[in-house]
Parts: sequence; C-alpha cells; structure tokens
Amino acid sequence: MTVVNALTAELGEAIVLAGDRIPEKSRSDQSLSGKHLPLAVIRPTTVQQVATALRICNAHGQAVVPQGGMTGLAGGANPRSGDVVISLDRLAGIEDIDAAAGTMTAFAGTVLEVAQKAAEEAGFLLPIDLGARGSCQIGGNLSTNAGGIRVITHGVTRDNVLGLEAVLADGTVISSLNRMQKNNTGYDLKQLFIGSEGTLGIITRAVLKLKPLPDGRATALCGLNRFEDVLALLHEARKGLSGLSAFELMWEAYFRFSREGEGLSFFEADYPFTVIIEQSGGSDEAFEAFLGEMFEKELISDALIAQSEKDRERFWKVREGATFDSLPRLINFDVSLPIGVLDQFATEVTASLEQEFPGIHVSVFGHVADSNIHLCASAGEIDEATEHRIDTVVYEHVRQYQGSISAEHGIGTLKRDYLPYSRSAEELDLMRRIKAALDPNGIMNPGKVLPVA
Ligand SMILES: Cc1cc2nc3c(=O)[nH]c(=O)nc-3n(C[C@H](O)[C@H](O)[C@H](O)COP(=O)(O)OP(=O)(O)OC[C@H]3O[C@@H](n4cnc5c(N)ncnc54)[C@H](O)[C@@H]3O)c2cc1C
Repeated sequence: MTVVNALTAELGEAIVLAGDRIPEKSRSDQSLSGKHLPLAVIRPTTVQQVATALRICNAHGQAVVPQGGMTGLAGGANPRSGDVVISLDRLAGIEDIDAAAGTMTAFAGTVLEVAQKAAEEAGFLLPIDLGARGSCQIGGNLSTNAGGIRVITHGVTRDNVLGLEAVLADGTVISSLNRMQKNNTGYDLKQLFIGSEGTLGIITRAVLKLKPLPDGRATALCGLNRFEDVLALLHEARKGLSGLSAFELMWEAYFRFSREGEGLSFFEADYPFTVIIEQSGGSDEAFEAFLGEMFEKELISDALIAQSEKDRERFWKVREGATFDSLPRLINFDVSLPIGVLDQFATEVTASLEQEFPGIHVSVFGHVADSNIHLCASAGEIDEATEHRIDTVVYEHVRQYQGSISAEHGIGTLKRDYLPYSRSAEELDLMRRIKAALDPNGIMNPGKVLPVA
C-alpha cells in the first residue's frame, strides 16, 4: 500500500489531500524560495491524528514537512516534491486561560493574533508579537523561536513558554504541558522543540506566559548624529523609562528610502541615525521629561512625540518598510552581533558589497537593543550564484565578529550551508546526534537546518 493510501485509509479524505486538492499555499513559505508540489497535505484536527500520520509516515520512511502559517523567511516550511506536509491550520484554538497562574494553553495552529486578542479580552498581554501576527501560528513561532518587537521587554518566544506538547517522528506524544514558573525535574525537554524548525517533532500545544496589560503607550521618533549617542540613549532609556517597550534603530539609507517610498517627511534633514523609542505604561509627562533630559545631554538632536495613533502609525510605517518589497530580488539578512560593533559592521559590510556589486542597494535597520540588525540588499535581477556571493560576503563579516547568521528568522534551507559560520563542528555533531536519537529514520523536515556532514 502506498503511504498516501495508508494515510487516507486511517485518516480519511477530509484530512488527507492529494493531487489537485493540494492548496497553492502549501508550496512555499514567505521566503518564496523553491516552490514544489508536495505528495500530500494532511490537515489533522486532533493531536491523535498528528500521531497517527507520523506513525504511518515513519513506517514508510516518508519525509514530513510541518507547516504553520507559512510566513517563515528561511524556507523551513517549504516541501520538496514527494514530501508529505502536515499542516497545523486546523489544530487551532485556545484551550485554557489560567488567570491565577497567568498562563494560556493553546493549540499549535492558533494564529498569533487570535491568541493575543484572547489574552487581551482576559486582561492580559501575550508578549509574543511580530509583523506577521495575522497569519503566523503559535506552533510556527515556537518552532522558529521568533523574535519580534517586544523582545526588549519580554525576551524571545523561548522566554515566554512554560510547557509544550510535541509528537515525535514515530508518533509518540510527549506531553510536557508544565504551567509552573519553577520546575527543575531533569532535562528541559521543551527546549528541544523550540527553535528546531520542525526537524525533531511536531509541536501540538503550548503553555504560554501571560503578563499584565500595560496602561498607555508613548512613542517618539528621534534623530541622532553618532552611534555612540544611540548606545548612550539606549542605556539612559533602560534606566530612566518605566517601561521601555521598543528601541528600533534605522540607519540613514534605510530611513530615507522607506520615508520617501511612503511619501512621508519628519525632520528638516535626515539624521545618520533615527530611533523609534516607545514606552508602555508610565505617564506621558515622564516620557516627555525623559526626552527633554536627553536633549540637554545632547544625545538627541531632534525628536517628534506621537500626538495621536495616526502619528504613531506613521513612525512605524517607516520602520516596517513595506516599500522595500518593490526592490528586485531583495535579500533580507537577519544577523546579530555584539551591540558595540553594530555600526562598524554595517559600515564595513556596506563598503564590501558596494565594491563587489556596484550599484547595489544596501540599507540597515534593527532591534538594536537585542543586538539584532536586518540588512536589506538588492542588486537587481541577479542569478542564484550572485545571490550566493552576496550571502557569502555578508556572512564572512558576521563570522569575523563571531556573530550569529540568524538572530530570529531561523536557518531553514536558505542559511543551512552557512550554519558552520556560527556553530562549531562539535556543536553541529551534537545537533546531529540529537536528531538521530529523536528521528532515527530522518523523516522530520529533512534537508532543513543541519548542513550535510
Ligand atoms: C511581514 C513579516 C514580518 C515578520 N516579522 C518577524 C519578526 O519580527 N521576528 C521574527 O522572528 N520573524 C518574523 N517573521 C518571520 C515569521 O513570521 C516567523 O518565523 C514565524 O514565527 C513563522 O511562523 P509560521 O506559523 O508562519 O511558521 P511557518 O512559516 O509555517 O514554519 C516555520 C518553521 O517552523 C516549522 N513549523 C511550523 N509549525 C510547526 C509545528 N507546529 N511544529 C513543528 N514545526 C513547525 C516549519 O516546518 C518551518 O520550519 C516575519 C515574517 C513576515 C512575513
């Protein structure tokens, strides 16, 4: 019996889609790297169905690709022809909000924004947040250990997870739905599945931490002349603001390109560095007083405080940079480096790219408080070999500074061959041994994350 027949016999045609019933969406994530038609798409509605599907695939040695909201930017959810996709779309919903413990238990397929709204209705903040919130899923967020815009206050996704449930390649369900802050009972198994991009098992449920909903929000756009001033401002903001919730830096080329693309203007002239600084909770008066103090210390040269939601949206629009999508073959690097060298790195890598690829667009922005910057590069309608050379130039610089080739988007296929730039041979070997122990037949998302030995 073929694997598709075996899956259909146990799970039924409503759950197993094959041939022209396979939705277009399952061919590629947002990296749009490689579009292949999978052999079948399985859409389980229960944890038991996930276990059944994996058990059958494992027995057939069938490769499986877990898919969440398909917003990933590293190619991790892309199937190859012949892979079976397990889509978590229909394993969705909030199981429980425990107000006393401040936890939410949700199924993996729950869309992040749905979970955020449910938390808000119960009077809490779900600290995980990113631009793709309307489509990405809790399971995808955990599998990529997503970062986003609240990391400065609440940490990355990993820091907001208390427990999880995952199904192993052979169909074993590991229910580790811990709800306690403290639990030192041996290995922390959930960490194996967080950030491993579906290569060790399928996450089916998670217990997430909730925080009190902050009251009020104040936002300013600040122009600065020197990178040292950016670092000093960050230090002062951490010390002086009651709830620093964003500190996003845009280098001049990024700010100008995005601002002009959106048809917006703010200051008389653009500054070498523009920072969006945001406070959640705390009073508007204290925020204004803080900015006044920063003027006096001559860290800020100019600042605008949002007077309305519309103002705030205008500031964030420039930072979100939708206008970059118009650039051909845009490569969005997601790297982290020690915070003190970020500007030096940006300057050096820009110079190297401009020298090797004349006319290339390079611009930089980032969650600078998290040591994470994104570098946008577009050299026109380039071929794959040129794209690979651009990658290599950037990652060579990252390696020199002992930085990370992926701060938050993950490795997938796009960065797989560069993983040795950030991880030692011993670390990679241990990763392979963990993979072999949990997935001896190598059916879980093969070809992703780990470079060929
Ligand atoms: C507009 C936009 C803004 C973004 N902003 C950010 C940002 O600020 N920070 C950030 O970190 N990322 C960001 N991303 C990237 C992306 O949204 C995140 O990586 C997100 O966490 C992926 O979730 P997903 O549900 O879409 O996962 P998918 O893309 O479907 O899958 C991602 C990976 O996880 C695996 N996977 C998915 N679900 C499961 C599961 N249940 N069990 C096991 N493995 C699974 C897949 O196999 C794949 O390897 C952004 C993307 C877009 C398009």
